[in-house]
Amino acid sequence: MKKESVVAKKKFGQNFLKDQTVLQKIVQAMPKNDNKIVEIGPGLGDLTKYLVDVKSVEAFEVDTDLCKLLQEEFKEEIATKRLHINCGDVLQAWKSALVDEAYDLVANLPYYIATNIILKALADPMCKNILVMVQLEVAEKFCADAGQKVFGSLGIITQSVGNAHIVVKVPPTAFEPPPKIDSAVFLITKNKDRTDKDFEDMLRVAFSQPRKTLIKNLSSKYEKSELLIAFDSLELMQTLRPHQVSTDDYHQLYKKIKI
Ligand code: SAM
Repeated sequence: MKKESVVAKKKFGQNFLKDQTVLQKIVQAMPKNDNKIVEIGPGLGDLTKYLVDVKSVEAFEVDTDLCKLLQEEFKEEIATKRLHINCGDVLQAWKSALVDEAYDLVANLPYYIATNIILKALADPMCKNILVMVQLEVAEKFCADAGQKVFGSLGIITQSVGNAHIVVKVPPTAFEPPPKIDSAVFLITKNKDRTDKDFEDMLRVAFSQPRKTLIKNLSSKYEKSELLIAFDSLELMQTLRPHQVSTDDYHQLYKKIKI
Protein backbone atom coordinates (compact mmCIF):
# COMPACT_ATOMS: atom_id res chain seq x y z
CA MET A 1 0.00 0.00 0.00
CA LYS A 2 1.17 3.54 -0.81
CA LYS A 3 1.00 6.39 1.72
CA GLU A 4 -1.24 8.38 -0.67
CA SER A 5 -3.83 5.61 -0.84
CA VAL A 6 -4.28 5.25 2.94
CA VAL A 7 -7.87 5.78 4.06
CA ALA A 8 -8.11 7.02 7.66
CA LYS A 9 -9.73 4.49 10.00
CA LYS A 10 -12.25 6.13 12.33
CA LYS A 11 -12.14 3.25 14.83
CA PHE A 12 -8.47 4.04 15.50
CA GLY A 13 -9.06 7.80 15.83
CA GLN A 14 -6.98 8.55 12.75
CA ASN A 15 -6.70 12.27 11.98
CA PHE A 16 -3.30 12.86 10.46
CA LEU A 17 -1.55 16.12 11.34
CA LYS A 18 -0.44 17.81 8.14
CA ASP A 19 0.25 21.41 9.20
CA GLN A 20 4.07 21.81 9.16
CA THR A 21 3.95 24.88 11.44
CA VAL A 22 2.15 22.91 14.16
CA LEU A 23 4.55 19.96 13.72
CA GLN A 24 7.50 22.34 14.18
CA LYS A 25 5.89 23.93 17.23
CA ILE A 26 5.60 20.50 18.86
CA VAL A 27 9.29 19.81 18.25
CA GLN A 28 10.30 23.27 19.56
CA ALA A 29 8.29 22.69 22.76
CA MET A 30 10.06 19.40 23.54
CA PRO A 31 11.90 19.50 26.90
CA LYS A 32 15.68 19.67 26.41
CA ASN A 33 17.11 16.55 28.06
CA ASP A 34 18.57 13.12 27.27
CA ASN A 35 15.33 11.18 27.68
CA LYS A 36 14.13 8.80 25.03
CA ILE A 37 11.01 9.75 23.08
CA VAL A 38 7.93 7.54 23.13
CA GLU A 39 5.44 8.27 20.36
CA ILE A 40 1.99 6.68 20.58
CA GLY A 41 0.27 6.40 17.21
CA PRO A 42 2.91 7.52 14.67
CA GLY A 43 0.27 7.10 11.93
CA LEU A 44 1.82 8.08 8.59
CA GLY A 45 5.01 9.22 10.32
CA ASP A 46 4.71 12.99 9.79
CA LEU A 47 5.65 13.79 13.41
CA THR A 48 8.00 10.78 13.66
CA LYS A 49 10.13 12.28 10.85
CA TYR A 50 10.84 15.34 13.01
CA LEU A 51 11.32 13.31 16.19
CA VAL A 52 13.95 10.89 14.83
CA ASP A 53 15.96 13.91 13.70
CA VAL A 54 16.34 14.97 17.33
CA LYS A 55 16.35 11.76 19.40
CA SER A 56 15.79 8.02 19.34
CA VAL A 57 12.14 7.04 19.30
CA GLU A 58 10.13 4.07 20.60
CA ALA A 59 6.80 4.06 18.73
CA PHE A 60 3.54 2.16 19.34
CA GLU A 61 1.07 1.81 16.45
CA VAL A 62 -2.04 -0.39 16.52
CA ASP A 63 -2.85 -0.34 12.79
CA THR A 64 -0.94 -3.14 11.03
CA ASP A 65 -1.31 -1.45 7.59
CA LEU A 66 0.37 1.66 8.96
CA CYS A 67 3.05 -0.42 10.71
CA LYS A 68 4.05 -1.90 7.32
CA LEU A 69 4.17 1.56 5.73
CA LEU A 70 6.26 2.95 8.60
CA GLN A 71 8.67 0.00 8.46
CA GLU A 72 9.24 0.75 4.77
CA GLU A 73 9.46 4.53 5.13
CA PHE A 74 11.86 4.45 8.12
CA LYS A 75 14.01 1.48 7.01
CA GLU A 76 17.24 3.35 7.65
CA GLU A 77 16.25 4.71 11.09
CA ILE A 78 15.09 1.23 12.13
CA ALA A 79 18.37 -0.34 10.94
CA THR A 80 20.43 2.23 12.88
CA LYS A 81 18.16 1.76 15.97
CA ARG A 82 17.08 5.39 15.85
CA LEU A 83 13.49 4.11 15.69
CA HIS A 84 11.78 1.03 17.03
CA ILE A 85 8.17 0.34 16.12
CA ASN A 86 5.94 -1.80 18.35
CA CYS A 87 2.97 -2.94 16.32
CA GLY A 88 -0.07 -3.42 18.58
CA ASP A 89 -2.36 -1.78 21.11
CA VAL A 90 -0.31 0.45 23.43
CA LEU A 91 -2.77 -0.11 26.29
CA GLN A 92 -2.11 -3.86 26.14
CA ALA A 93 1.65 -3.29 26.10
CA TRP A 94 1.57 -0.90 29.09
CA LYS A 95 2.50 -2.57 32.36
CA SER A 96 3.44 -0.24 35.25
CA ALA A 97 6.09 1.29 32.94
CA LEU A 98 5.74 1.43 29.16
CA VAL A 99 9.51 1.27 28.50
CA ASP A 100 12.38 0.55 30.89
CA GLU A 101 14.23 3.86 30.69
CA ALA A 102 13.38 7.53 31.31
CA TYR A 103 11.22 8.86 28.48
CA ASP A 104 9.15 11.82 27.34
CA LEU A 105 5.83 11.07 25.66
CA VAL A 106 5.45 13.14 22.48
CA ALA A 107 2.39 12.37 20.36
CA ASN A 108 -0.70 13.38 18.49
CA LEU A 109 -2.86 10.99 20.48
CA PRO A 110 -5.82 8.91 19.32
CA TYR A 111 -8.58 11.01 20.95
CA TYR A 112 -10.85 8.11 21.94
CA ILE A 113 -8.26 6.93 24.51
CA ALA A 114 -6.31 10.16 25.08
CA THR A 115 -7.35 10.77 28.72
CA ASN A 116 -6.63 7.14 29.63
CA ILE A 117 -3.17 7.32 28.00
CA ILE A 118 -2.27 10.59 29.80
CA LEU A 119 -3.36 9.19 33.19
CA LYS A 120 -1.22 6.10 32.55
CA ALA A 121 1.74 8.29 31.59
CA LEU A 122 1.26 10.40 34.74
CA ALA A 123 1.38 7.20 36.81
CA ASP A 124 4.35 5.74 34.90
CA PRO A 125 7.56 6.39 36.90
CA MET A 126 9.67 6.21 33.69
CA CYS A 127 7.65 8.96 31.99
CA LYS A 128 9.19 12.34 32.79
CA ASN A 129 7.28 14.75 30.52
CA ILE A 130 4.14 14.62 28.40
CA LEU A 131 3.77 16.72 25.24
CA VAL A 132 0.61 15.73 23.44
CA MET A 133 -2.13 16.84 21.07
CA VAL A 134 -5.67 16.12 22.28
CA GLN A 135 -9.15 17.65 22.03
CA LEU A 136 -8.97 21.30 23.22
CA GLU A 137 -11.60 20.55 25.89
CA VAL A 138 -9.45 17.76 27.36
CA ALA A 139 -6.26 19.88 27.25
CA GLU A 140 -8.09 22.63 29.15
CA LYS A 141 -9.10 20.18 31.89
CA PHE A 142 -5.51 18.99 32.42
CA CYS A 143 -4.21 22.59 32.42
CA ALA A 144 -6.96 24.14 34.58
CA ASP A 145 -6.43 26.12 37.79
CA ALA A 146 -8.62 26.28 40.91
CA GLY A 147 -11.55 28.61 40.34
CA GLN A 148 -12.00 27.74 36.66
CA LYS A 149 -15.22 25.84 35.86
CA VAL A 150 -13.28 23.00 34.21
CA PHE A 151 -11.01 22.50 37.23
CA GLY A 152 -11.49 18.92 38.44
CA SER A 153 -9.73 15.62 39.16
CA LEU A 154 -7.58 15.80 35.99
CA GLY A 155 -6.25 19.27 36.88
CA ILE A 156 -5.63 18.29 40.51
CA ILE A 157 -3.81 15.05 39.63
CA THR A 158 -1.68 17.00 37.12
CA GLN A 159 -0.84 19.79 39.58
CA SER A 160 0.04 17.15 42.17
CA VAL A 161 2.83 15.75 39.99
CA GLY A 162 4.06 18.81 38.13
CA ASN A 163 2.75 21.66 36.03
CA ALA A 164 0.97 22.00 32.73
CA HIS A 165 0.32 24.60 30.06
CA ILE A 166 -1.20 24.79 26.61
CA VAL A 167 1.48 25.17 23.90
CA VAL A 168 -0.76 25.87 20.91
CA LYS A 169 -4.42 25.60 19.94
CA VAL A 170 -4.98 23.79 16.65
CA PRO A 171 -7.95 24.15 14.28
CA PRO A 172 -9.51 21.17 12.42
CA THR A 173 -7.94 22.36 9.13
CA ALA A 174 -4.50 21.25 10.35
CA PHE A 175 -5.54 17.59 9.96
CA GLU A 176 -6.46 15.16 7.22
CA PRO A 177 -9.31 14.25 7.58
CA PRO A 178 -10.31 17.26 9.74
CA PRO A 179 -11.87 16.30 13.10
CA LYS A 180 -15.14 17.95 14.17
CA ILE A 181 -13.60 19.65 17.20
CA ASP A 182 -10.72 22.02 18.01
CA SER A 183 -7.50 20.51 19.34
CA ALA A 184 -4.56 21.68 21.43
CA VAL A 185 -1.01 20.65 22.18
CA PHE A 186 -0.11 20.83 25.86
CA LEU A 187 2.93 20.06 27.98
CA ILE A 188 3.03 18.46 31.43
CA THR A 189 6.41 18.71 33.16
CA LYS A 190 6.52 16.05 35.87
CA ASN A 191 8.55 16.51 39.02
CA LYS A 192 6.88 14.03 41.39
CA ASP A 193 5.24 10.60 41.26
CA ARG A 194 1.51 10.27 40.83
CA THR A 195 -0.87 10.71 43.76
CA ASP A 196 -2.12 7.62 45.59
CA LYS A 197 -5.30 5.78 44.72
CA ASP A 198 -7.17 6.75 47.91
CA PHE A 199 -6.54 10.43 47.17
CA GLU A 200 -7.96 9.95 43.68
CA ASP A 201 -10.97 8.14 45.18
CA MET A 202 -11.57 11.16 47.40
CA LEU A 203 -11.45 13.39 44.30
CA ARG A 204 -14.06 11.20 42.62
CA VAL A 205 -16.39 11.74 45.60
CA ALA A 206 -15.53 15.46 45.77
CA PHE A 207 -16.56 16.03 42.14
CA SER A 208 -19.44 13.53 42.03
CA GLN A 209 -21.94 16.41 41.75
CA PRO A 210 -19.94 19.45 40.55
CA ARG A 211 -22.75 21.98 41.21
CA LYS A 212 -23.25 20.92 44.82
CA THR A 213 -20.95 22.15 47.59
CA LEU A 214 -17.75 20.23 48.25
CA ILE A 215 -18.78 19.44 51.82
CA LYS A 216 -22.09 17.99 50.65
CA ASN A 217 -20.38 15.71 48.13
CA LEU A 218 -17.75 14.57 50.62
CA SER A 219 -20.36 13.84 53.31
CA SER A 220 -21.67 10.97 51.16
CA LYS A 221 -18.52 9.07 52.16
CA TYR A 222 -16.90 10.85 55.10
CA GLU A 223 -18.20 11.70 58.61
CA LYS A 224 -19.86 15.14 58.56
CA SER A 225 -18.48 16.02 62.00
CA GLU A 226 -14.90 15.30 60.86
CA LEU A 227 -15.45 17.29 57.69
CA LEU A 228 -16.66 20.28 59.69
CA ILE A 229 -13.54 20.17 61.89
CA ALA A 230 -11.26 19.79 58.82
CA PHE A 231 -12.95 22.63 56.89
CA ASP A 232 -12.74 24.83 59.95
CA SER A 233 -9.06 24.19 60.61
CA LEU A 234 -8.18 24.82 56.95
CA GLU A 235 -10.39 27.94 56.91
CA LEU A 236 -12.40 26.55 53.99
CA MET A 237 -15.91 27.96 53.67
CA GLN A 238 -18.73 25.39 53.67
CA THR A 239 -20.24 27.13 50.62
CA LEU A 240 -17.27 26.26 48.35
CA ARG A 241 -17.98 24.24 45.20
CA PRO A 242 -15.48 21.48 44.33
CA HIS A 243 -13.77 23.49 41.54
CA GLN A 244 -13.10 26.43 43.87
CA VAL A 245 -10.68 24.57 46.16
CA SER A 246 -6.93 24.48 45.38
CA THR A 247 -4.85 21.34 44.84
CA ASP A 248 -2.90 22.11 47.99
CA ASP A 249 -6.11 22.38 50.04
CA TYR A 250 -7.32 19.04 48.62
CA HIS A 251 -4.10 17.43 49.87
CA GLN A 252 -4.47 19.06 53.30
CA LEU A 253 -8.08 17.96 53.47
CA TYR A 254 -7.12 14.40 52.48
CA LYS A 255 -4.55 14.22 55.31
CA LYS A 256 -7.23 15.21 57.81
CA ILE A 257 -10.14 13.06 56.66
CA LYS A 258 -8.62 9.91 55.14
CA ILE A 259 -9.92 6.70 56.62
N1 SAM B 1 0.87 10.79 14.76
C1 SAM B 1 0.09 10.80 13.54
C2 SAM B 1 -0.12 12.21 13.09
O1 SAM B 1 0.11 13.13 13.87
O2 SAM B 1 -0.52 12.42 11.94
C3 SAM B 1 -1.27 10.08 13.72
C4 SAM B 1 -2.13 10.58 14.84
S1 SAM B 1 -3.74 9.88 14.87
C5 SAM B 1 -4.62 11.15 15.73
C6 SAM B 1 -3.68 8.63 16.12
C7 SAM B 1 -2.81 7.41 15.79
O3 SAM B 1 -2.89 6.50 16.90
C8 SAM B 1 -3.24 6.61 14.58
O4 SAM B 1 -2.13 6.28 13.82
C9 SAM B 1 -3.89 5.33 15.17
O5 SAM B 1 -3.82 4.21 14.31
C10 SAM B 1 -3.05 5.16 16.43
N2 SAM B 1 -3.73 4.40 17.49
C11 SAM B 1 -5.06 4.36 17.79
N3 SAM B 1 -5.31 3.55 18.83
C12 SAM B 1 -4.09 3.05 19.22
C13 SAM B 1 -3.70 2.15 20.25
N4 SAM B 1 -4.59 1.59 21.08
N5 SAM B 1 -2.37 1.84 20.36
C14 SAM B 1 -1.46 2.40 19.50
N6 SAM B 1 -1.79 3.27 18.52
C15 SAM B 1 -3.08 3.60 18.38
